[in-house]
Amino acid sequence: MQNAPHIPLPSRLPDVGTTIFTVMSSLAQECQAVNLGQGFPDFVGDPTLPELVHQAMLNGHNQYPPMAGVLGLREAISLKTQQLYGHAYDPVHEVTVTAGATQALLTAVLALTEPGDDVVVLEPCYDSYIPAIQMAGCRPIRVPLDAQTFRPDFDKIRQAITLRTRLLIINTPHNPSGTCWTAEEMNELANILSDTSVMVLSDEVYEHMVYDKHAHQSVVRHPELRSRSLVVSSFGKTFHVTGWKVGYVLGPQALMSEFRKIHQFNVFTVNTPMQMGLSTYLGNPKPYLELPLFYEEKRNHLRQGLQSMPFELLPCEGTYFQCVRYKTQDWHQAPEHDADFCIWLTRKVGVTAIPMSAFYTSPTRSQVIRFCFAKQLKTLDEALHRMRQYLAS
Ligand code: PMP
Ligand code: GLN
Repeated sequence: MQNAPHIPLPSRLPDVGTTIFTVMSSLAQECQAVNLGQGFPDFVGDPTLPELVHQAMLNGHNQYPPMAGVLGLREAISLKTQQLYGHAYDPVHEVTVTAGATQALLTAVLALTEPGDDVVVLEPCYDSYIPAIQMAGCRPIRVPLDAQTFRPDFDKIRQAITLRTRLLIINTPHNPSGTCWTAEEMNELANILSDTSVMVLSDEVYEHMVYDKHAHQSVVRHPELRSRSLVVSSFGKTFHVTGWKVGYVLGPQALMSEFRKIHQFNVFTVNTPMQMGLSTYLGNPKPYLELPLFYEEKRNHLRQGLQSMPFELLPCEGTYFQCVRYKTQDWHQAPEHDADFCIWLTRKVGVTAIPMSAFYTSPTRSQVIRFCFAKQLKTLDEALHRMRQYLAS
């Protein structure tokens, strides 16, 4: 191997390492632990969808689709959005198919900001937000969610917004906490923003995982917010295909045309057969309308099992994540910090979780960990069994 000459490498993200999801999944594999860490289903979804994709490939849909996505898919997305949230985005100008939500989020931040702007994020938050803000040359302004309930604190949000603020990123249902914004909270946000020019990036990838008969409060339902928002969703979550990396963005034409300027030089477009398959599959609302009941069973199963253990269960109103607080003395003097606790739980007990502190960029003393319940019941049972056995030993 040739030694590289000594070239000082610049870094746009000097403080960033490998994501916690990758780190914990590798450790789970190494330790043969039950992986309830990284959020992905361990079961196969409806075979109709891959069959449709396969058929699209055989039918020759293998060349570049339009830059903004296959029109039929954009029409299906627009119709679904109208039926669920009461507003029809124009599929030609206001819907864009993306390579998953992560690309959509970065592209949106790049599109809606200029270097030097302030972008407000509510912490804890999904791990790509702050690097995206930094890559855009903007300043992340971190506003903590309530430390106990993980709900938005509107006084703090109001105080954080200044003339330098260009964008606010919100996420409901919320990863990692599982909280969902209420209609009143959306109204409150609309009030705060009404006489500002702050735009909103609303990450709604878990829109179809809202439980206990509650309705998802999309910004799309709120005209004041909708007019200043890009909304992001992901088919990976909705149809159990996280590895496909296909999602979409909705927004008024003025915002979307800026989004597309970046999108076309970022990925240009997204693979055709998946889009063709999804466009037919979306015609049937049953798979996403049944999702709350499907996941509620898994949530309840995990919660019931965890209830008999020394954990304090946080509410799980949406997403496929269940957070719990622990006390180290209950776990035979396990490490105190949640990141160490998760490593210990993987190595010693054979169960992997994600530490809450990974969703903060500032050092955080947290004793909360996140379990993913997008798993077969037998996987959840095995994890519960291992923890019970450890506690009994
Ligand atoms: N936002 C949130 C809140 C997420 O949990 C995820 C999950 N990975 C994403 C965005 C990214 O979704 P995708 O896999 O479609 O990029
Ligand atoms: N969104 C998933 C989670 O929160 C993982 C995404 C990823 O691996 N980057 O677990």
